[in-house]
Amino acid sequence: MKFRVNRKTGDRISEIGLGSAYLYEAGREEAVKALRTAYEGGINFFDLAAGHGDSFPMYGEALCHVREHIFYQIHFGADYTNGDYGWSMDRETVKRSVAKMLKELRTDYIDYGFIHCQDELSDWESFQKNGVYDYLLELKQKGIVRHIGLSSHTPHVIKTIIAEADPDMLMFSVNPGYDCGEGEYAHGELNERNEIYQLCEKKGIGISVMKPFSGGQMLDASISPFGTALTPYQCIRYALDKPGVLTVLPGASDEAEVKALLEYYDKTDEELDYSVIGTVKNTKLHGRCVYCNHCKPCPMGIDIGLVNKYYDLAMAGDELAKEHYRTLEKNACDCIQCGHCDSRCPFGVKQSERMLEIRDRMGEK
Ligand code: SF4
Ligand code: SF4
Repeated sequence: MKFRVNRKTGDRISEIGLGSAYLYEAGREEAVKALRTAYEGGINFFDLAAGHGDSFPMYGEALCHVREHIFYQIHFGADYTNGDYGWSMDRETVKRSVAKMLKELRTDYIDYGFIHCQDELSDWESFQKNGVYDYLLELKQKGIVRHIGLSSHTPHVIKTIIAEADPDMLMFSVNPGYDCGEGEYAHGELNERNEIYQLCEKKGIGISVMKPFSGGQMLDASISPFGTALTPYQCIRYALDKPGVLTVLPGASDEAEVKALLEYYDKTDEELDYSVIGTVKNTKLHGRCVYCNHCKPCPMGIDIGLVNKYYDLAMAGDELAKEHYRTLEKNACDCIQCGHCDSRCPFGVKQSERMLEIRDRMGEK
């Protein structure tokens, strides 16, 4: 397992986490086994926007003995008081649901307390007006909630709430389909979505990724907007390549699926390479560097994806990215204009030209 640090909280979080939408379906014994396998495999970050309230006692049984080594993101607005998942903006209902979750998880604190499912600005207004936000802040003040999170699919709503609530973590839906405007939660244009990735990186807000497979759409050629199936591993790599992303949270239905997710680190670079989506004509990703590094190897040893990522972040005003760029052993100044990357890039990026631009704007070594 590899880990990334949330710069706002200092938490060291596994690149692969676990979502909880389906695990309860496995039944208690299998779910407990799956969760323990996840933990033993290095997963330390668990999202608890569960498909059903039955999930919580399963987590409690599986992980209460390692509670201090794991992180839970718990959603204020997800209501399990009647078993099934429900969405509520009622303060008393949320209070009851949070108390139930804590009891069943056998814990007395929440690592990330989430402003849950804010897809419209009116959701944020209701969340505040109904006192749910005050309740979340009250628990933060008491130390029961350690950090604040936000979950949303909608870039313009995210921007507003980040400006007003300054969360420590964002749960955002990330996959190539949504970035290209395809799929149920493909909210926002590509530029707006890129702005969110860059804003989070700049402010040190970690992104935890929901829906990395677009509900399975990315994994099935017959329904994928790219006409080709990606593997779960390619989707995970795509999300992890986005600025700001700390952890990807795929769901699993049983222990075998958890084990399969953990095989991510056994895959070769070729197996993780998702650049096949760049061969599809007219994709919105065409002409933009997505940092996939398919164009490697550069004869000068330039990490082309990373140089481009730091450059884009620097152009968006990220001073830290500028510093990171300067510490790279090889950067755009080392480019000899051989054109190898141009011929290799499936996204049609004129990378050698871009290297000249990067050199000019980021300065000499
Ligand atoms: S230039 Fe193309 S192949 Fe190279 S990292 Fe960027 S998008 Fe990927
Ligand atoms: S054009 Fe520059 S960046 Fe691209 S492969 Fe050649 S030396 Fe590397």
